[in-house]
Amino acid sequence: MPLRPLCPRCPSAVTESGGIWACSHHGTVPPLWRTSESSYDAFGAHLGRAEGFPTYLPWPMRPAWRVTDFGVVTADKGAQATLTAVAGVTEHDGPVEVVVVSEEPGIGLGARCAGTVHSDPGAEIAGSPPTVRVRIDSQSVPLWAIGTAEEAGVDRSVVAGEAGGRWLWLVIRPASAIMLLRTDWRLADVSGMGVPLLELPFGGPPPSW
Ligand SMILES: [Zn+2]
Repeated sequence: MPLRPLCPRCPSAVTESGGIWACSHHGTVPPLWRTSESSYDAFGAHLGRAEGFPTYLPWPMRPAWRVTDFGVVTADKGAQATLTAVAGVTEHDGPVEVVVVSEEPGIGLGARCAGTVHSDPGAEIAGSPPTVRVRIDSQSVPLWAIGTAEEAGVDRSVVAGEAGGRWLWLVIRPASAIMLLRTDWRLADVSGMGVPLLELPFGGPPPSW
């Protein structure tokens, strides 16, 4: 099976009974269908399960960068979140990982990857100018720096905002690599892209979230 059902809020497996999925720590949750190995075939299964919910990747992918991980949170109500992780090397930061999460409010996947205190970033993005902007199609999407929980450490930068009526999270390791986002960083929803996905490199270093 290319995608395994897991809890979106913690690493636990989930169990299903009568169409209801549950985590032993978080109770009833819509499962996160996460790839066990990043591959083109598993990505096809992911896009099928996401049913048109946006799956964002940095686009075009930088040379020698790879798609290392992806997942979709979906149960009977349809998809509610997607995640992708890409990794590569930059001159300034060495190995860099970027995790992108798009999610409905209250899912908690973005907060888990980011290591933040709150499930949703709303409280931290009001009333201040954005930290960075990324482009999605012709849209310029403002993103704000989000503080992480003490135990999450300082190995990452987290920015979040809203795109297409959903929360958009970017988690970047190491923290200094956030400078990448200041250089015309673009995301694309690849859910309907088709043929160009054949060219995507999959695999690479295991994701750290
Ligand atoms: Zn859980």
